[in-house]
This record gives sequence, structure tokens and C-alpha cells, in this order.
Amino acid sequence: MRTPRIEIDLSKITHNVRNLTQLFGSKGIGIVGVTKGVCGDPKIANLYLNSGIKIIGDSRIANFRRMQEAGIQAPFLLLRLPSLSEIESVVKYTDISLNSEVKVISEISRVASSNNAKHKIILMVELGDLREGIMPSDLDEVVKEVVELPGVALSGLGANLACIGGIKPDDRNMNQLSEIAQSIEDKYGLKLEFVSVGNSSIYLWVESAADVGKINNARLGESLLLGGKDLDGIGIPGLYKDAFTLVAEVIESREKPSVPFGEVVVDAFGDIPKFEDRGQIRRIILGVGRQDVLFSGLTPRLNIEILAASSDHLIADAKEVDLKVGAEVEFDVDYGAMLAAMTSPYVVKKYINEE
Ligand SMILES: *Cc1c(COP(=O)(O)O)cnc(C)c1O
Repeated sequence: MRTPRIEIDLSKITHNVRNLTQLFGSKGIGIVGVTKGVCGDPKIANLYLNSGIKIIGDSRIANFRRMQEAGIQAPFLLLRLPSLSEIESVVKYTDISLNSEVKVISEISRVASSNNAKHKIILMVELGDLREGIMPSDLDEVVKEVVELPGVALSGLGANLACIGGIKPDDRNMNQLSEIAQSIEDKYGLKLEFVSVGNSSIYLWVESAADVGKINNARLGESLLLGGKDLDGIGIPGLYKDAFTLVAEVIESREKPSVPFGEVVVDAFGDIPKFEDRGQIRRIILGVGRQDVLFSGLTPRLNIEILAASSDHLIADAKEVDLKVGAEVEFDVDYGAMLAAMTSPYVVKKYINEE
């Protein structure tokens, strides 16, 4: 088989999706299945839709186009705030978007109106994480303007947590969002289809919350794909953390010193490299590098240790493991490594356990 490749176990992802749609569903929360970590992979979008998810979320227009060209039909939700320069595509390829700027929403309204379309707007509220969102005290001003725009429908409020600021979703900020949603509904006499929260870290709150208030939508990617493997250090119980496997091939395996010899300048990336002296080691080179994957996000399944990586090579100490040229080595991936491998054109995608 060709290497490097990423093996995607569809039955493990299906298990994760069914498990979370059931748990969230039991609390009245629908899931937006996020595909941005897998480059809008149509097979995974399809799996989501066949396992209880109704809406697909992604951050890139190119990914929505890819899914639509593959025949995926679902409401598409744009996660990253739309750029003013891409509004034609936003209206063409998506149905719903997260927003915080009136200037952008006005442009969406203008383009949608001229296409006789109505685009759904979810207004993002800042709850403390300090990525996208309108400060609660400024929200009323924005709502007042948005409800007057003809090409858009104010369909919900949303919030994003545990992203830039690392702020945890808790009763305080979640109740605040519910209360704001209630007051907007009361004041403007409308029903908000979505009170939407993300990202995967929301699991910790949803799982333990006695009352989720008006929260009825969660945008999840990592927890569906990788079982929330970094959540609270242990991940979500009962979910697979290893649905993705990066496979690389040994292209050199030799006994060598553990410390470079000769005069030290800088490495290929402009850094002065440091190596611990372990004496002679079995040093292996794998045919995978920074153009393929984020090597800091790889965990070998064998007891070997990654030492360094260049654009095209990964160097490891094979320790006691007998790895000869041609051997395949498997790695667990974290979100960053999965994202890079799924995006790199050099990494073969292999689907396993397809139903
Ligand atoms: C990426 C993203 C999500 C999903 O995040 P995960 O950590 O993959 O669950 C949710 N909401 C927004 C706005 C995002 O950009």
C-alpha cells in the first residue's frame, strides 16, 4: 500500500456520532456535524447525515463546494465569519452563517435579495473567550438593524468557547446565552430556531447540566472524529479516540550516534537543534514530513520516539523495536495532525470498515 497514508475507520466515527447525537438529543440539542478538520470530506459528511446529524458545518467555501459537487444535500452552515469579499459564494454555497458584523450581514442581504433567496443568520455573542462575537451590551443595536434586512432571517444566537481564550462553558455563561435569547425573542416577537454553542468542549457542560435552558444546537467536530481525546485529559468515555491512523514507511534504519557530529550551524528551519546524548541508537527515517502532517501531533503506537522532522522526513529512535526498511509504522493523530494529513495532497486517504 502507498505511504504516507491516513486510514479513516468509518465504523468508529459512526459509533462516536451515534453516541453523541443520542446524548445531546436526550437534552434537546441537535448537532451540527463539523467537517473542517477533514477538509470537507464527502464520505464523512455522508456518514454524519446517515447517523443522526441534520446540518453540516465547515469554515471554508471550498469545502462546501467539494461536498456539493459530491452530491451531499443538507443545510450548510458557515462557521468562520464571512469575509466581505466572498459574499456571493456564501449565498451560493451555504444556507446559514455565523455573523457579528452588520456591514457583512447587509451585504449578504443585498446578494440574497437579488437572488430571491433568504440566508439564515446566527448572531455570535461574546461570552468571554474573545474570538468572534458581539458584546452583550451591543447586541440589541445589531438585532434592531438585522431584523429590518430583507434578504436575511435572524435565525439564532450563537457562542464559541474554549477556543482562543480557553474559557470553559459553564452554567454562568450558558445561562447568560439562554437569557439573552429569551429577551431577544420577547422584545422582537420572534422565535429563534438556533441557540447554538461550540466547540467540542461543550460536551463537559452538556453531559453534567441539569437544565440546558434554551440551548438547542451544538457545533461539534473534534469529539465526533477523535472522541474529544484532549477533553479534560481523558476524552469522552465510550468514544473511539483512534478512528484516524497515520501510516508511514521506514526508508532508512541504521545504528548511528544520537548527537550530530561536526560544527553546528542552523537546521533547515533556522533553529539550532538540540539532541540528548543517548549513545548509539537505532535511528529510523520515515518517509513523511512537515508537508504531510503536523509531527508534534503524532503519537507512535509502538514504543519508539520521534526526535525531529524536516519537510519530507521524520526521524525516530526505534529503541528496542526491530524496524527494517519497508516496515510500516502507525501513529495516533491529534486534531492538528489529522487536519494537516487530511488537507495534504501527498497523504493517501484510505477508508476502512465502510458499512
Ligand atoms: C471549528 C468550530 C467548531 C467545532 O470545533 P471542534 O473543536 O472541532 O468541535 C464549532 N464552532 C465554530 C465557530 C468553529 O469554528
